[in-house]
Amino acid sequence: MGPEAERWQVVREIVESALELSTDRRIAYVAEATVGDAELAAEVNSLLESAEATATWIDRSPIGKVQPFTQELAPGRRLAQYEITDKLGAGGMGVVYLAKDERLDRLAALKVLTSLGETEEERRRFAREARAASALNHPNIITIYEYGCADEIDFIAMEYIRGVTLAQLLKQHPPPLAELLEIARQTAKALASAHAAGIVHRDLKPANIMIADGGLVKVLDFGIAKLARQSGDSSTEHNLLMGTPTYMAPEVAQGETADARADIFALGVILYEMAAKRRPFQGKDAMATLTKIVNEDPPRVDSINPAATRQLADLIAKCLAKKPEARLPSMTELAEKLEDILAPAATQSRRWLLAGASALAAGGLTLGISRWTTGPALRYELEAQKEPGQLPYRAAVTDTFRAGWKFRLRLYAAQPGFFYVLTETANDVAVIYPLSGEAAQPAGATVTGWYVFDQTPGMERVWVIWSEKPRELIAKPGRADQTRDAGIRNLLTRLPAGMAGELLQLRHV
Ligand code: ATP
Ligand code: MG
Repeated sequence: MGPEAERWQVVREIVESALELSTDRRIAYVAEATVGDAELAAEVNSLLESAEATATWIDRSPIGKVQPFTQELAPGRRLAQYEITDKLGAGGMGVVYLAKDERLDRLAALKVLTSLGETEEERRRFAREARAASALNHPNIITIYEYGCADEIDFIAMEYIRGVTLAQLLKQHPPPLAELLEIARQTAKALASAHAAGIVHRDLKPANIMIADGGLVKVLDFGIAKLARQSGDSSTEHNLLMGTPTYMAPEVAQGETADARADIFALGVILYEMAAKRRPFQGKDAMATLTKIVNEDPPRVDSINPAATRQLADLIAKCLAKKPEARLPSMTELAEKLEDILAPAATQSRRWLLAGASALAAGGLTLGISRWTTGPALRYELEAQKEPGQLPYRAAVTDTFRAGWKFRLRLYAAQPGFFYVLTETANDVAVIYPLSGEAAQPAGATVTGWYVFDQTPGMERVWVIWSEKPRELIAKPGRADQTRDAGIRNLLTRLPAGMAGELLQLRHV
């Protein structure tokens, strides 16, 4: 055995022994076994935290050939009726591709499993779990199309979501707190419905929450994670090796199986991250993070962010209770509490009222996910055109647009009415649709004209409004004078019955 192999042997022995210990004893053991050798300690700790590792990694010696962990599928490759067109991302269990379902002529996201399915039994369990997840039917839960296998490759075909993950959103352009809480509320709704069907998510984290075009939240990877953890071994060690423990509940970190209350803890961690702009338990490595999860209480979010209310701080603390029985009793209750925070019962219990008021006060919600409605649901599609002569494409509100690009809106309402589009800045309000100013015939759908992004970078605030009756106040096209401006702003804040509205904010550079 050469020195490198000998060194590996030592590392391997320490890691294997460490994995047999409980979390709290493991840290002391690793410290003792690596005392005086910082490099060894670092190597052991990094192996222990390695997010890509699976329970079988220990059998793969770093000397000699290592099997590639993921198998990349190139565009044009076919799997059953799917033709792969693009890679969407990769995670702990596999790679997600954009594909076209040739049979049904629709897009799909294919999750190709690479670290699972080593035995027949594991694959059967995986299939069973995909089926359980596919039984869930909720607007905030991703739709699973099928579980398939072609050319010995296992995959899950699911609804393709055009949008961003919450992880990306938090990292890149965190929107204002009110909007983040709306995402959390929809997430809680999704989980409450899954819990009612007896399915625990077990791997709730920002990377598994997507915000689709138009603002609808979709929770991903239901039950899939559960199976991954059960295949072979459901111990803490396995959980630890499956990925980052940031959102793991203390009881799970200590080896118990996750139940619905572990999802409540995970959503608590996410809410904390939203409100405090930092994670509640963050150690320098996975072990240190786990120790904090088990032993430490993070500072309250209202002591970190003045925009966070006491009510929100109390709620988050209650989700993060160490003992599952001390947490909020159910996800349904968490969803209700978030609803209360977003719209206190106060004078009028309509959600849009507070949302509208706080939107104006806080300088606005972003990414078009706020809906103000007392009328039928309003739907819109955003079309953009990059260059004259180029084909318009279906854009997402979360896209970044450039000066000179054009956009227009297709608007739909469940019942005929009058559509208006306004732009709003701190200084004024302008009506950009309808341009003629005439109260048109009531319609169920309409397409606006094209608008061009100007040279001033920033957020374009665009109000899309539907009204049962024509509204004199906003019928006149162009910039409003002072009194009309005030009147329109007042209307947007307290949208009367028979109206529906949505605020889109388009980022442009
Ligand atoms: P984990 O394996 O622990 O779930 P992860 O969530 O980061 O980790 P994946 O679930 O494999 O990884 O997803 C990888 C990325 O692929 C996601 O972050 C997302 O950007 C993209 N993605 C996944 N599913 C879809 C989907 N249905 N539609 C569009 N994009 C998706
Ligand atoms: Mg995922």
